[in-house]
Amino acid sequence: TDIEVWKRSDRYHNERLIGTPDASLVHAVESSAKGGLPNIAVSEAQAKFLQLLARTFKAKRILEVGTLGGYSTIWLARALPEDGELITLEISETHAEVARKNIAHAGLDSKVKVIVGPAVESLPKLEPSFDLAFIDADKQSNLEYFKEAKRLVREGGVIIVDNVVRYGRVSDPEQKDNATEGVRRLLDYIKDDKEVDATTLSTVGEKGYDGFLYALRL
Ligand code: SAM
Repeated sequence: TDIEVWKRSDRYHNERLIGTPDASLVHAVESSAKGGLPNIAVSEAQAKFLQLLARTFKAKRILEVGTLGGYSTIWLARALPEDGELITLEISETHAEVARKNIAHAGLDSKVKVIVGPAVESLPKLEPSFDLAFIDADKQSNLEYFKEAKRLVREGGVIIVDNVVRYGRVSDPEQKDNATEGVRRLLDYIKDDKEVDATTLSTVGEKGYDGFLYALRL
């Protein structure tokens, strides 16, 4: 099946370009599973892409919406310099607890702050400026998160929104679930927005067929 091919392909590339994942990441995946967290973190290849992006433009402050067990958080925080900071927002106290432990296990607790609560309440309390924002929480609120990320990310910074393709469902008018509608509201908003320039990059891999939106803050 397609998914088996995509998994094989991810494995093939990851073996060559990522190699053995560091022990803290393996620990994060295992403890998240043990803690009963859903298996919805970004893939390894996507996580590394985020890290490379942060390294490419030497991000010093990173914002993440949707922490889960801290998998993408750890990958991103590894890109930060000594005095860098990552703020990650999570609604679930359970997820945040698992994430905090994983982040500490990775030796990143001095750089990472996990804030518990609905992101719509946490975001307005944050101060600019961030170099990079990664939005990966409840998809129906994508637009609210994106507007706040625009306020917080500096000119020339980047906002990434995950899961904007959803097996092509976003472009299928028959699909009316909340997550899909949330992505559509975001795209319709960006269409007329002069403060960002954006594109969607579709992806296939171990997580199926999806894609992320890459927006440059103007
Ligand atoms: N970024 C993580 C990774 O790749 O390792 C995965 C994040 S997971 C897809 C989405 C997370 O967003 C879940 O942990 C969920 O509890 C959290 N979430 C859902 N609704 C939220 C809200 N209103 N505010 C903050 N976080 C929320």
